[in-house]
Amino acid sequence: MKRKTYLLFIFLFLFTVDVFTQEKLSLITENKKVKNILLFIGDGMGLSQIAATHIKTSGAEGILHMECMPITGLLYNYSATSLITDSAAAATALATGYRTDNGIISMSPDGKVLYTILEAARDNNFSTGIVVTCSITNATPACFACHVMKRNKDTEIAEQYLKSKANVLLGGGRQYFLPKSSPGSKRDDERDLISEAKKAGYSFVKTKEELINIKTNYLLGLFEMDLLPINPEPTLAQMTQKAIDILSQNEKGFFLMVEGSQIDIWAHAHNIDNVIQQTVLFDEAVKVGLDFAIKNKQTLVIILADHETGGMGILGGNLNGENMQIEWLSSSHTAIPVVLFAFGPMAEKFTGVNHHTYIPKTIAEILGIKNFPRPLREKIWMRSEKE
Ligand SMILES: [Zn+2]
Repeated sequence: MKRKTYLLFIFLFLFTVDVFTQEKLSLITENKKVKNILLFIGDGMGLSQIAATHIKTSGAEGILHMECMPITGLLYNYSATSLITDSAAAATALATGYRTDNGIISMSPDGKVLYTILEAARDNNFSTGIVVTCSITNATPACFACHVMKRNKDTEIAEQYLKSKANVLLGGGRQYFLPKSSPGSKRDDERDLISEAKKAGYSFVKTKEELINIKTNYLLGLFEMDLLPINPEPTLAQMTQKAIDILSQNEKGFFLMVEGSQIDIWAHAHNIDNVIQQTVLFDEAVKVGLDFAIKNKQTLVIILADHETGGMGILGGNLNGENMQIEWLSSSHTAIPVVLFAFGPMAEKFTGVNHHTYIPKTIAEILGIKNFPRPLREKIWMRSEKE
């Protein structure tokens, strides 16, 4: 064998090993101090969505980054009145520790404002952030920093974000921040929320290049008028990296929520190729989080879903991922419990079978946040109340 060919074979062998055997992470038992929380949410990412992505991208023997984590658990996700949750009720449970009705953003069915884990972390001097590939006014991100009785109040949610004082807000939805007279605006008034954010101390970016080059403590990034495209620029991984860079400047620690927002969309549409593509993008963001946590040693990484979408089943196919047969039971969400993965100090607290409401309560306990969960106050002034 010629030397060059020989070297090529070694290279191919090493490359293959790297792709097919990601390192399984072990439990961190020696260090119990958690400074940072990375909460990853795959919207609509049920077990079949994860399994199909794993099988399709690296064969049945392969493994995703999220699957390298040492702790797994199961989460029921029913809302206050329905076995089938929507993203609003699910994210309310994940953010506040309370179940509410479908469609409500971090308020109780009778109108009490529910304190979110992001707000509690902020009030305890942690830095906080939200990173998504949908409009930042959509249900999952909104539930961490905003409070409205109807999830479609996008313009009001945009206004509330400015008061949230979250250090990092990255995603789409610029149309809800621009004044009515600005092309493409979805606002019904002349408020320019981007200018207001700048006055309040935020740096604003709207391209990948601006994102990568910015140095700041408060960052608002709105990269599209509505949701990000299927191949987003910046990627979820790039946004996650920037968020961690900014938030980790705080010695006290941080709370960051990252959502792979579009797995759900393509599961509703029964488009398995796009479900897999979106789950891969989500898993690449998870890798960024895991790389940070492995080095940092005081970071707890939790990955979960708000609900399963589509009642997806894998009914056949080859071990190498070819000819996978997929069937769907529903065009909506299902009541199937979702899987949770955890890595880092205190990860073992998330093992077993729980409800979504367990997640923020346990995060609060781990971060030493007292008086959580609780209603923030009985009533909040809301623009939507006038309607
Ligand atoms: Zn959905």
